[in-house]
Amino acid sequence: MNEVILLKYGEIVLKGLNRRRFEEILLKNIRNAVSGIGTPEIQTAQSTVYVSFAEADADYGRALENLSRVFGISALTRALQGSYDFNTALQECGDYLEEVFQTAGTFKVTAKRADKKYCLNSPQIGALAGEYLLEKFPHLSVDVHTPQVTVFLEVREGHIYIHADPVRGAGGLPAGTSGHGLLMLSGGIDSPVAGYRMAKRGMRISAVHFESPPYTSERAKMKVEKLASKLSLYSGEMILYTVHFTEIQEQIRNCCREDLFTVIMRRFMLRIACKIAASCKATAVITGESLGQVASQTAGAILCTDAVASLPVFRPLIGSDKQEIIDLSYHIDTFETSIEPYEDCCTVFTPKHPKTSPRLADVEKEEAKLNVEELIDAVVITKERISHA
Ligand code: ATP
Ligand code: MG
Repeated sequence: MNEVILLKYGEIVLKGLNRRRFEEILLKNIRNAVSGIGTPEIQTAQSTVYVSFAEADADYGRALENLSRVFGISALTRALQGSYDFNTALQECGDYLEEVFQTAGTFKVTAKRADKKYCLNSPQIGALAGEYLLEKFPHLSVDVHTPQVTVFLEVREGHIYIHADPVRGAGGLPAGTSGHGLLMLSGGIDSPVAGYRMAKRGMRISAVHFESPPYTSERAKMKVEKLASKLSLYSGEMILYTVHFTEIQEQIRNCCREDLFTVIMRRFMLRIACKIAASCKATAVITGESLGQVASQTAGAILCTDAVASLPVFRPLIGSDKQEIIDLSYHIDTFETSIEPYEDCCTVFTPKHPKTSPRLADVEKEEAKLNVEELIDAVVITKERISHA
């Protein structure tokens, strides 16, 4: 029995002249997603990608799961690469989908014929397959409007491909087709979701994390590595930069007004993020901010922060409420890790009454008490490669 996974292109089908570039990146991402499973054989025809493995005992279930996270795919399914001979293919269909039919009450058959020379046309294939299945599984009945199961028989390139309803793919655009963004990754719930959202729009992701030892622990750092690893299942392998931020935070605390501590700290974070982004050729910084969530996420505070940005700052969650973000964090399996209780550097020295509408002139005046350039130049940054282990 030859199995294959069929993947249907998503938004790529709308692309015009540069479609090839999108396809090439998509195929590379597909190959990476199944690289640990066996020796993949990957082909494309008519907006469909066919993935099979040279090894007969390859884990197709795991491959399907990995591929369901690849952006740029609208739907996917395991399928049987059945015989070209119609009667043999019908028997194979009954056997291959037996479990599905046993648990269903109604079905319909959808036939597609890419191979126009085939001896039967699509309506004939549908009618004959329906008859055969009704006879083999007498408890079934046909429902062409709302069937519990749709059986697909697709004739192409010397085979009849047999499968039941496909599952939804990850959607979006292939990660890497919309450039490269640097995600500010805290240990919280929001920022991994923000990275996921931008990867879904085709961005390749690198990440930067700010830590403040001894106020933040090694466990907090490990938590961020784990989040980055989970995110990489969607975005692909990434580089994680870690910024040693203690000295800067202490200087702000010692020299600047307490109520402006957070906004000044965030301006330092953004300056450093922009600098790292430029050095790794990322063209945007991504954050998990959501309007009004905390004092530093008001429009006024964001204005003060963005005044130091040298690159666009993408905030894909700006209009999302917390529950929507939590739902997505469950979807990408980061929630349980995000709620592990370790300190983030943002919560170190947090003022009791942060300004929700700081004035840029006040912020700049306070900041002038520090030697901004020198502090940023002295900061220690380490770098590690993160993949999904
Ligand atoms: P999150 O759940 O992502 O931590 P939050 O609600 O706790 O978000 P803040 O602490 O104000 O919000 O942080 C807002 C954004 O700033 C985060 O989503 C993240 O992008 C960035 N950020 C905060 N702390 C850090 C950090 N230690 N390292 C890197 N980025 C950070
Ligand atoms: Mg946070």
